[in-house]
Amino acid sequence: MTKIAMRTPLVEMDGDEMTRIIWKQIKDIVITPFVDLKTEYFDLGLENRDRTNDQVTIDSANRTKELGVAVKCATITPNAQRMTEYNLHQMWKSPNGTIRAILDGTVFRSPIIVDGIKPLVSCWEKPITIARHAYGDVYKDTELRIDGPARAELVVTYPDGRVEKQTVFEYKGAGVLQGLYNTDKSISAFARSCFNYALDVRQDLWFATKDTISKTYDHRFKDIFAQIYEEEYKAKFEDCKIGYFYTLIDDAVARVMRSEGGFVWACKNYDGDVMSDMLASANGSLAMMTSVLVSPDGIYEYEAAHGTVTRHYYRYLKGEKTSTNPMATLYAWSGALRKRAQLDSLPELEDFANRLEKASIETIKSGIITGDLNPLLARDDKKVVTTDEFLTAIAAKL
Ligand code: NAP
Ligand code: MG
Repeated sequence: MTKIAMRTPLVEMDGDEMTRIIWKQIKDIVITPFVDLKTEYFDLGLENRDRTNDQVTIDSANRTKELGVAVKCATITPNAQRMTEYNLHQMWKSPNGTIRAILDGTVFRSPIIVDGIKPLVSCWEKPITIARHAYGDVYKDTELRIDGPARAELVVTYPDGRVEKQTVFEYKGAGVLQGLYNTDKSISAFARSCFNYALDVRQDLWFATKDTISKTYDHRFKDIFAQIYEEEYKAKFEDCKIGYFYTLIDDAVARVMRSEGGFVWACKNYDGDVMSDMLASANGSLAMMTSVLVSPDGIYEYEAAHGTVTRHYYRYLKGEKTSTNPMATLYAWSGALRKRAQLDSLPELEDFANRLEKASIETIKSGIITGDLNPLLARDDKKVVTTDEFLTAIAAKL
């Protein structure tokens, strides 16, 4: 069999622990037998990040800016315990944070839906994608404890010396205070990423804030989205027969729960943090959530939404065969290959990416599953298998 050709390489960002093992299995079992895989390899495993003073993470993100599409394995974000475990020189920052800061953009998360694997919300028939603004708000806030009666003020000083001042609150006793910010630039980039993504997947875009209460801050988000939609996207949306829908966040939550799914839900940073975990757990398994970072200038970085599955890795190190679910990581690969194929006009490669996803879904539908899906599938003839058996079954269908 001649292998399917590629033109431009993918940026391949390898990672840690169980997902690093799965990474190689996916390539060996379901990709390289069929595709003449071209990648530029960056080892973001924690040892190599430490060895290179994290330069490898920066290099991989910069190369992604040049090549346009990356696929990333889950990586450890070190904490105190990892400092000793890996004998690190520094508590390196989250690679995802570093990559996001270089590429700038929005993280889109959506579940992989399979007939028979029932979401807890029974009316959801199609996936709901959450688009999370990943800049500012409470994640970069300034907080103060107030220890007695005091006046809190907002003070803004412009370069020309102009000063604006407003009283926030007159404290009669102790309390707390929080300062938040965002920028028109970041909100606009967020809006464009969401509109572009909705056009890409041909689904409606929903957006919600609390603008009735937050009449300046949240209202700015609403206005920027509305203006960019009118000026740049309305015609394209109409051509694609999709829509843009704005509502209040509490109304959005109520509607989402009653919807049949099949749309993109843009969320402010905090709403997206909370709602994506709600969506993941309502869909049953973390291992069925995909994730892609889309930059405002159309650069894509695909990954799984879950981490390195440390608990399984420690069992693997003891020589056990684990039944870790490779679906989200496999979808990172198929998503990256499909995007590369579209950019390079390679229909055979695009077709392969679609078939790979189809074969993996058919495998689950046939009752061959990993352990995490066991409680979600009500069937007598199901078979829980190890990761490599699962991938081998997918390769057989391919
Ligand atoms: P995790 O790796 O997502 O795993 C949490 C638990 O979820 C696992 O113990 C497992 O449950 C279940 N799970 C997740 N993915 C699974 C899969 N593919 N198949 C089957 N079960 C799966 O989160 P964590 O244990 O909190 O974090 C581990 C490391 O990952 C940390 O060092 C963290 O820094 C890193 N992390 C990286 C990323 C990223 O790179 N994007 C994201 C999050 C976390 P059971 O053990 O009950 O089977
Ligand atoms: Mg969260």
